[in-house]
Amino acid sequence: MFTTETDAAAQLAADAEALRSTGHDLIDRMADYLAGIESRPVSTPLSPAELERRFDEPLPREGRPAGEVWDEVWRDVVGNAIHFAHPMYMGHQIAPPLPHAVLADTLASLLNQSLAVWEMSPTGTLVEERVVCWLADALGFPASAAGTLVSGGSVANLTGLLAAREARFPGCWTDGVARTPDAERAVLLVSEHSHYSVERTAGLMGLGSHSVVGVGERDGKMCPTELERAIDELRGEGRIPFAVSATAGATAMGLFDPLDQIADVCQRAGVWMHVDGAHGASFVMSDTLRHLVHGIERADSVAWDPHKMLWMPMSTGAVLVRDGRHLEAAFRQKAPYLFHTRPGEDRCRDAGRMTLQCTRRFDALKLWVALRHYGTGHFAGLLERTTATARSLQDKLAAASDFEPMHAVESNILCFRHLPESVRGWTDDEVDAFQAELRARLNASGRGWITTTVLNERRVLRVTLMNPRTGDEHLDRLMEALREIGRELAGT
Ligand SMILES: *Cc1c(COP(=O)(O)O)cnc(C)c1O
Repeated sequence: MFTTETDAAAQLAADAEALRSTGHDLIDRMADYLAGIESRPVSTPLSPAELERRFDEPLPREGRPAGEVWDEVWRDVVGNAIHFAHPMYMGHQIAPPLPHAVLADTLASLLNQSLAVWEMSPTGTLVEERVVCWLADALGFPASAAGTLVSGGSVANLTGLLAAREARFPGCWTDGVARTPDAERAVLLVSEHSHYSVERTAGLMGLGSHSVVGVGERDGKMCPTELERAIDELRGEGRIPFAVSATAGATAMGLFDPLDQIADVCQRAGVWMHVDGAHGASFVMSDTLRHLVHGIERADSVAWDPHKMLWMPMSTGAVLVRDGRHLEAAFRQKAPYLFHTRPGEDRCRDAGRMTLQCTRRFDALKLWVALRHYGTGHFAGLLERTTATARSLQDKLAAASDFEPMHAVESNILCFRHLPESVRGWTDDEVDAFQAELRARLNASGRGWITTTVLNERRVLRVTLMNPRTGDEHLDRLMEALREIGRELAGT
């Protein structure tokens, strides 16, 4: 493409100018998007088939002017996106990200440091080390802790439990499960409400998903007495419970397992304690909410998603291991073409030693910028605000005769049902179908966006309140919209 040095220099100047001119325009549009978010429907009005037609285009041979392409991005992509920043979005656990984190993420793309090894990202490695250190400190972990950022909670769970497997059955990594003494008797104990990714890790680790055993629960939380009983029973059968995965902020209801009591059981039994805190580990940031995760400081490993309750753009996941040596052992491997200890240094600084990823984005930058700019106090405020909004919704639902909250709210997730007069006397299946249809029509209307799940075999509505701008007024609008749709459905 370049025939002369002048061409190359001109191209560089043009690239910089493209960033400048399109960048200014893009940032203006992004700011307007955010400021005007409430004037949009929460989600696309188009059907999947209509949307598909918008994007049905052959591989472009000829380029087109940037302005045209960007205009179409705004029309087709942004115009039909799900707007997580909209205060009526109350669906999945996705954050409306903090603006400085969004900007830092853009800069991370420009710098494109790869966190695989020090020599591709010296500052990236140090920034990530610092962020991991802050997260470990916030958990109350000792100085022996180590960790890494990963793509999210699923990979964090896998990484933490891989460290657990190698700690209990050394040799699995090199010799394989079948040839490692006792490994075939391994059992992973989990909360009934654990995220599906936890069970998946057992399959991925070659232990088989049948090695996962659910522990009995009380009020939607892992019961420590049942845990102790399960460990004794399994041992009596000659099986080896090697790890317990407790949940801090379970996906369905946002409830916290009693971590401190679970830590007592794990300590007595000598079993690795993993905490899936993808949603809830962030609660350590708030003095008034920290009691929910009391005992997390005693865990052997923790999965923590800053892209949920620390309001980072995805992907930003983290795994922290109490004794860092176990994390290193989990991926014991030599790759002399990649990992180095430089002369005169006593340790290898390459972050890739501790994760299954090689090339890895500089995700630490946004978290580093955000923590330094906002400080933990700001995050505590966001956590307290969204949790208070969920409590407020619970109070409103409980006070209304046509709504029923399904559980006491602990975090910012709440499951409930709408039960107007007109559905009294309907069968359970009919009431289930009614809830599902309420949700489908609300989401299609663009007025709001919620999810559903199944609790005790009944279909329920579910909200996750991730947006600090969602307030009482929006909760009232949600209830009103559901009532209106309910009347349409019941034909009253
Ligand atoms: C969201 C979630 C996960 C999965 O995390 P990803 O970041 O989506 O990979 C795991 N566990 C719990 C409890 C979660 O809420």
